[in-house]
Formats: sequence, structure tokens, C-alpha cells
Amino acid sequence: MARFNTQLVHGVPVNDNNTGAVNPPIYNSSTYTFESVDAMPRWDYARSGNPTREFLESQIAQLEHGERGFAFASGLAAIHAVLSIFQPGDRIVVSKDIYGGTYSQLNEHFSRWGLVVDGVDTQDPVAVSRALSKPDAKAVYFETLTNPLLKVNDVQSLAALAHAHGAIAIVDNTFVTPYLQQPLDLGADVVLHSATKYLAGHSDVVAGLVVVRNADLASRIYFVQNRLGAVLPPAECDSVRRGIQTLALRMDRQQENALKLARYLKRHPLVSAVHYPGLESDPGHALAERELNGAGGVLSFEVKDGVDAGTVLNNFKVFRLAVSLGAVESLAEFPARMTHFELPREERLKIGITDGLIRLAVGIEDAADLLEDLGQALAVAGRERDERAARNAVTAGEGGKAGKAAETVPVKVQVFA
Ligand SMILES: *Cc1c(COP(=O)(O)O)cnc(C)c1O
Repeated sequence: MARFNTQLVHGVPVNDNNTGAVNPPIYNSSTYTFESVDAMPRWDYARSGNPTREFLESQIAQLEHGERGFAFASGLAAIHAVLSIFQPGDRIVVSKDIYGGTYSQLNEHFSRWGLVVDGVDTQDPVAVSRALSKPDAKAVYFETLTNPLLKVNDVQSLAALAHAHGAIAIVDNTFVTPYLQQPLDLGADVVLHSATKYLAGHSDVVAGLVVVRNADLASRIYFVQNRLGAVLPPAECDSVRRGIQTLALRMDRQQENALKLARYLKRHPLVSAVHYPGLESDPGHALAERELNGAGGVLSFEVKDGVDAGTVLNNFKVFRLAVSLGAVESLAEFPARMTHFELPREERLKIGITDGLIRLAVGIEDAADLLEDLGQALAVAGRERDERAARNAVTAGEGGKAGKAAETVPVKVQVFA
């Protein structure tokens, strides 16, 4: 039996050609011939299946220890397919801090379609249990590491709670990948990915993957995949396959870099909080040690009041200002204005996504360059804060009306509006 790193490189052999090619072929064919009118060919039409997609689907099933895998045109298409196995009237208990696009799909599409979406704090087992006790609760849906605050969700207890109420557990494992955790082994029933992120790993493809624990779920997902048709084309399947080959190598460096940055930020005088379960001081550290083989390459931090997060972000030279994560290059983004702008501000603040929060998706560059970049961008924001304070002091010194006006100058400027 091949071990994990070997599985990443080789997948499950397909033996469908005799050329000796070390890579599985990209089948650039939408249709496949029948030997005769009565024949039941293995492949007939590429939406229903094709060998390139099958390679990737078998590989992700192998890596996630599941019964069967499915490849979709995007992470959201994968989520759409998974949630489409339910019926109007079914209740889905959903973690309050999920990916913004998933939040919108649930609340703007699926609620209109008839799913009852019940948002809960998945860090609170009593709340989850209460929601699962309501009529027609069919599933609990959450992310292994939450975004952007990197809270660790306890897959084992959440899956056990779901099962105790006759529901299934659906886990978005995008931030973690099977390299760091196989949720099905912890009791989950469905695991899904935006393969756009770590699995493909090079910011050059949009893709989604799903793996299920049993044959019943497999046939329900396959039905949706073929009926709704948001399948991943062969060339993109191959891009994801190639990315997967180096997953472990990339992730090792990303985590090593992320930990160095988290430790640096923790000591930085302009930073008020660092969220990274790889830090021993992090509230999620013990659970991460128990259920994960590493804390991943994403972290977030908050700058102190008066420091403008937008200035920090606008002054990066190595980090690119962009949404997404999991690729070889380091990215930085502003959750309040970029990934989580779809959440109403009050909702956003309630779940802790403040206006000073910055998310870093750490790449495989030299840690020293990333540390220097963070340092210089924070220094610019620090100088700006000091200059503003000095200006305000001068204006206040002039007294009267001008002083009052200066006090009300907003500290945070809107950068991305
Ligand atoms: C990006 C992302 C998605 C959506 O995936 P797309 O490939 O962009 O459609 C879903 N869940 C998480 C956690 C993500 O980061």
C-alpha cells in the first residue's frame, strides 16, 4: 500500500493506455464511441464522466479515505451539489463563520429554494445540539478552520452530535487539506474542497472536490453532478492533479513560514491580536494538536486602534493584495472589505471580523523576505498614525471649533469602497 506522499504523486493508476506516459492523459473529447448500438461503453459523454476526471476523483477519494470523489467547476459548485441532495423543508445547521460565498449561496439561493438555514456557533456544542433537535435537521455544515479567525472546529464532536440527531456532518476542508486532516476518519460524512486553494496550489485554476463516506451519499452526489452539470473540464482536472503532487512540500514550507510570521506579529507593538492555532497561546492550539497534523498556512491579525489596516495592506511589496489562499505566493487581504464584505457589518462584527483585521495566506517564499515586508508595511502605518496624532494635537491646541472637528476625523479610511 502506497503511503500518503506516494499517493499524492501517483494517485490510483488508471492503466487505460499503453504509451508508457508517466502522467495520465488529458482526454480532450466530449463524446466517446459505442462499439455497437447495444454496447454499454465505460465512457459515453464527458459530462457523465471521462478518464481524466476519474483519475482526480479517485485520487481525492483515496487521499480523504472516502468511498468516492467528485470534481466540480469550482468550490461553490461543489457546495451547491452537496446541498442539492437535500429537499425543500430540510434544515441545515450551519456554522456562523463560514466562507462569504457559501454564506450567500445558503442565504440568497438555498433559502429561496426552500432549505431552512440555521446559523449557529459551532464552537458551542449546546447551541449545535439545540439546533439539531429542531424538526427536519438533516445536516451540520462547517469548516475545519474558520475563515478568517482560524478557530478550530472539533470535527469529531460535531460529527458525533450530528449522528446522535440522525443528521450528517459536512466539512469544508479547504484550509486544511487531507495532508493535515482526514475529516471522514473523524466521523464526517461529506468532505469538500475549494481545490482552487491548496490542492491546485498555484492560483491558476478554479475547481471544487467532494468526497463521501458511503455508496448511498455517492449515488446522491453523482445524480446531482450529472444533472446540474457543473463538472470540472479535463484540462483543469489535470492542473489540480499536478498541484496535488507537491501538496505536502508546499504545505510544509507554508506552515513553517506562517509560524514564523505569527510569532513575529505576536511581539509587534502595533498588533493587538494574532489568530493562528499553531501558536501555543492560541485558544485552538490544544484541539489542533489533537485533530490536525499542522495549523496550515493562513493566519490573521489585528492592528491596534488608530493604526490603519488599509495602510498596512497598501504598502506590502512581497505580499500581493488579493483574495484567495493556498498558493505558492503570499497574499494579504482585508476581510472587512474583501472576502467578507457580503456579510452585513453588524453580523461581521458579532463574529469578530473587525475593521482592523488582516488575513495573510502565506506562501513558500523566504521567510526573511515576508518578515521584512510585514515589518516595513507596519512601520509605514505606525508613522502615519503618529503623524495624524501630532496633527490632531496641533489642531486641538488651536481650540474652539477647529479642535472639535479634528477629534471627529475618522481614524479608519475606507480604502476599497
Ligand atoms: C474559496 C473557498 C470556497 C469557494 O471556492 P471557489 O473555488 O472559489 O468556488 C469555499 N470554501 C472555502 C473555505 C474557500 O476558501
